[in-house]
Amino acid sequence: MRTTALKVLAAAAVMLTLVGAAQAQALSKVERMEQQRFAKNNSLFVLYHEVAHLIFDQLDLPILGREEDAADNMASWMLLNQQTPQAEAALTDAARGWQLSGRAYNSGGYESDFYAAHSLDRQRSFQIVCLMVGSDVGVFRPIANEYHLDRDRQDSCYFDWETVNRSFSALLGVGRKAKHVGTEVTVSYHNVSGRLKAAADAFRSSRVFERVAEDLRTRFSLPKPVAFNAKHCGEANAFYDRDNVEVIFCYELMQDYMDLWLTDHQAAVAESSSGKKRK
Ligand SMILES: [Zn+2]
Repeated sequence: MRTTALKVLAAAAVMLTLVGAAQAQALSKVERMEQQRFAKNNSLFVLYHEVAHLIFDQLDLPILGREEDAADNMASWMLLNQQTPQAEAALTDAARGWQLSGRAYNSGGYESDFYAAHSLDRQRSFQIVCLMVGSDVGVFRPIANEYHLDRDRQDSCYFDWETVNRSFSALLGVGRKAKHVGTEVTVSYHNVSGRLKAAADAFRSSRVFERVAEDLRTRFSLPKPVAFNAKHCGEANAFYDRDNVEVIFCYELMQDYMDLWLTDHQAAVAESSSGKKRK
């Protein structure tokens, strides 16, 4: 899961007000593409996070430490191992996404945040950046600098990455030839109308389901068939349902990423037009 449903609902009213005002100005084609890329990339990271829960469960893997942190680490590890510009852009957007959601939903502002299953949103962001710079300092130094990780931490992130890489490589048998791969994955999109239609269409056309499903089919051999379902849930979230071996992605979450991007974009435009510099 992404965060507590209660907090999302509590913050929804604030977001809707901000977004309502922001949507008064139409976006250009380029801005619309940026918004969709951001939402797509954050959805991709969350989907890999849910797939990590699926893999932990289906392969009965040991997990040392908090499962939610391990699922984030596995999502980052899977994307970093792809070594493609698209995967790196996905991690960059996911790191930004956790910063924006941390601010929008006041992650760390509630007592319950400190006993929750998930780390704080900004910690989740910094952990992505740490694994990026830890995996390849030459490529990812600029993003670590952008997020103000000091040099000592940037250097010690190498050991964080090494631990994550060694652990998942050993658990998932990377480097060993599997006798048989071919997880059965079905992908479904439930129809939706009204306010969520545009987000649902954007999620479907992003093809993140198909991309991750193909990764599962070609790299893993899970014992049971897996279902990916995209639907209206009543909250901005994603889940792994172990009873049905099902990953659920809520269209509200795609909408939430689009709204987060829009709110931040409009704030940046307003600040630049008033001559203020953003922190
Ligand atoms: Zn989770």
